[in-house]
Amino acid sequence: MTAAALSYDDVSAVPDYIEPVIAWRAWRISGRGERVLLESLFVDTVWLPGEPLDASCKSGKRSRWRPWRIELNDHPAPDFECTCGIYAVSSPEAAAKYITDPYALGRVDRVIGRVALWGDVVEGTSGWRASHGYPVELWVPARTADGRGLRRRAYLDEIAAGLEAYNVPVDIVGDPLSLVG
Ligand SMILES: [Zn+2]
Repeated sequence: MTAAALSYDDVSAVPDYIEPVIAWRAWRISGRGERVLLESLFVDTVWLPGEPLDASCKSGKRSRWRPWRIELNDHPAPDFECTCGIYAVSSPEAAAKYITDPYALGRVDRVIGRVALWGDVVEGTSGWRASHGYPVELWVPARTADGRGLRRRAYLDEIAAGLEAYNVPVDIVGDPLSLVG
């Protein structure tokens, strides 16, 4: 096996007996001690290096008798009738929106990448929701969408080095939209 032949098959966290859906998504990164960890953007979920993420439903409904409590749904994620599961989109353009949208301007804590999805995979209009996922390839955008926020090189190198714990290719990319095509 050569580096040139690197593919999701070589990623230890993706079982080699399955044929994953390869999609795109964005993550937030957080530094925990010496570690750099990927986290989901909209739910409180940490993607641990070397471990497939198992989705769980984080939605629920208010308890009828104790309305200050939210009773979590007990179905496996993703559920057809719910919004749960590991989200990914079908194009790098769609994933890059989570980095380039106005609300994200100036955010220095986001990365984009390809992700393997497997297990139960529900197809939606712009992508998928899945029961299992693991990154396949990661890019650290060197600038924010407004063009002025050139990230400091030292930060970029530190982030990229930290993400190597995921054992997938990590690159620094000038503009996330350059991944399109
Ligand atoms: Zn659910």
